[in-house]
Amino acid sequence: MGESWFHKEFLTPRRLLFNILFYGSHIFFFAYGWHSQATNKKLAGLNSLKYSVWSSRGAGLVLAYDGGLILLPMLRNVIRVIRPKLAWAFPADENIWFHRQVAYQMAFWAMVHTTAHYVNFLNVERTQIRKETALDIHYTQAGGITGHFMLLVIVLMYTTAHRKVRQQCFEAFWYTHHLAFFFMIALYSHATGCFVRDSTDPDYIKSFPFYSTEHCLGYESWRFIIWVGIAYFGERVWREIRARRSTNLQKVLIHPSGAMELRIVKPSFKYTAGQWLFIQVPEVSRWQWHPFTITSAPEDPYVSVHIRQVGDWTHALGERLGAGPSVVAALTKAAMKGSEKDDKDSYVGMRGDFVELDTATSSSPLPMVRIDGPYGAPAEDVFNVEVAVLVGAGIGVTPFASILKHIWYRQRKGNMGCLKRVEFFWVCRDAPSFGWFQSLLQEVEAAQTDPNFLRINIYLTQKIGEDMLWNIAINDAGAEYDPLTLLRTRTMFGRPDWKSIFGRMRQAIETGQYLPGSSSQLKTTVGTYFCGPTPLANAVKEAALASRTGHVDFTFAKEHF
Ligand SMILES: Cc1cc2nc3c(=O)[nH]c(=O)nc-3n(C[C@H](O)[C@H](O)[C@H](O)COP(=O)(O)OP(=O)(O)OC[C@H]3O[C@@H](n4cnc5c(N)ncnc54)[C@H](O)[C@@H]3O)c2cc1C
Repeated sequence: MGESWFHKEFLTPRRLLFNILFYGSHIFFFAYGWHSQATNKKLAGLNSLKYSVWSSRGAGLVLAYDGGLILLPMLRNVIRVIRPKLAWAFPADENIWFHRQVAYQMAFWAMVHTTAHYVNFLNVERTQIRKETALDIHYTQAGGITGHFMLLVIVLMYTTAHRKVRQQCFEAFWYTHHLAFFFMIALYSHATGCFVRDSTDPDYIKSFPFYSTEHCLGYESWRFIIWVGIAYFGERVWREIRARRSTNLQKVLIHPSGAMELRIVKPSFKYTAGQWLFIQVPEVSRWQWHPFTITSAPEDPYVSVHIRQVGDWTHALGERLGAGPSVVAALTKAAMKGSEKDDKDSYVGMRGDFVELDTATSSSPLPMVRIDGPYGAPAEDVFNVEVAVLVGAGIGVTPFASILKHIWYRQRKGNMGCLKRVEFFWVCRDAPSFGWFQSLLQEVEAAQTDPNFLRINIYLTQKIGEDMLWNIAINDAGAEYDPLTLLRTRTMFGRPDWKSIFGRMRQAIETGQYLPGSSSQLKTTVGTYFCGPTPLANAVKEAALASRTGHVDFTFAKEHF
């Protein structure tokens, strides 16, 4: 177990390359910073402090480098644009992971830099190479003040970014992370104190950058890294402008289990299937933006999202839209009873039932919403592979709703790109959840002229009650439609056996039964796209990658919720 973790983290070819470049560049900058300080004859006075000053300067240069790197993965719009062209070169969807790796490095090098500087300041006071005390440097000079300020921000940002805090109080993480703006200002102005100088007193001047570069001999690293900060700031301003363009919440549908479908019209909003957006409802919260996957297809006249009620903001939105607990409970109860599609008497309890909010009779009109995006997602790539395996768990089905709709539109135009077959898996804990996309799945299923092109595989993992068992038994006998999903495809009970699913698929491809004709002879790429919880993602990934052979290449991409 330990060995395989080590192998996965450090030795797989891509990881190895990343580790060499990432850690190698950190060590390089540290060594360069150390060496150029130690060998600078002008700084002979400061160099009498020896190791502490050499390490503080090396670590300082690494921190400047990280100060530029940390914002790169947050340039979401830039990533969205370059993602389709450069997806092969770097994992664009792992941007948050990369952001975290840089943050860990910053924490480490900040400790080295600060400890070394504390020793420097004490030694300056002790040796009196400059006529100043350690406390003066700490609290009256720009380097000390901005340094302590950055340390405080680091403590606040890192503690609130912990997974447990994010899960319990996302707002604490969200708001605290905006201190990054002030952190960056402090970083860019850290050297203005002129600690690294060849003169006894700091050499300040009246014009920008307010210290003499003749005597203040820092690395001037801010001149290089500030550009990323400017780009990030520009993105945020651009997002703000874009989000303010005319947006109209046209319709709200409330599905069983309380999932709310918002249909929004924003003519300026262009997207591709599988992407996601940020939404803000100022009436619910003026500052919060929440990410949701787009469930409509680009061909639809509206942009839709399906929102599950899980916490403060989504519940407040539910209340505001009239999807409070009583409405949800009534819908869910009805959906829990299995019923047959053609059984007109029990139509009300059908699983696909949803309530469309009637704005004409409602006392308050629909609230104003703002959307920002779209942003990239791995599921965008499904049209570039021959076989797409789409796996959604629970609400993780949302990206595939958009993809399936888009497939449906493209089938009608006869324009499927590389895509020859689609296997869609939806793993749900409970039956009411099927209601979210039932009508969509029915439409897509009914539109199939080739029954083999799209295969829908639905799994129900929760134990089912006696009532439902009877309903299924009675309704299923000889029925054309599955009583739970109302699809032609029968629901399977329990967890999917991924190893056997991928193994059978590989075998069928290799024997030419899966993709008949010449294509079966060539190397086939099966792209697996997953959205849902991590343990299930690991199981699917392991099974998919273990099924690779010389003739069939299985790839795996995960959407991060
Ligand atoms: C790319 C992406 C796509 C998503 N798509 C969907 C979708 O299609 N349908 C759906 O129902 N949910 C989706 N989610 C999850 C959705 O964003 C959260 O459920 C929602 O923000 C919860 O807010 P809350 O205040 O009600 O819950 P809280 O109780 O505050 O949070 C519940 C969980 O959501 C996370 N969360 C809260 N606020 C945010 C935020 N602003 N940004 C990111 N995560 C947050 C928290 O870490 C926590 O684990 C998606 C998330 C991401 C990152």
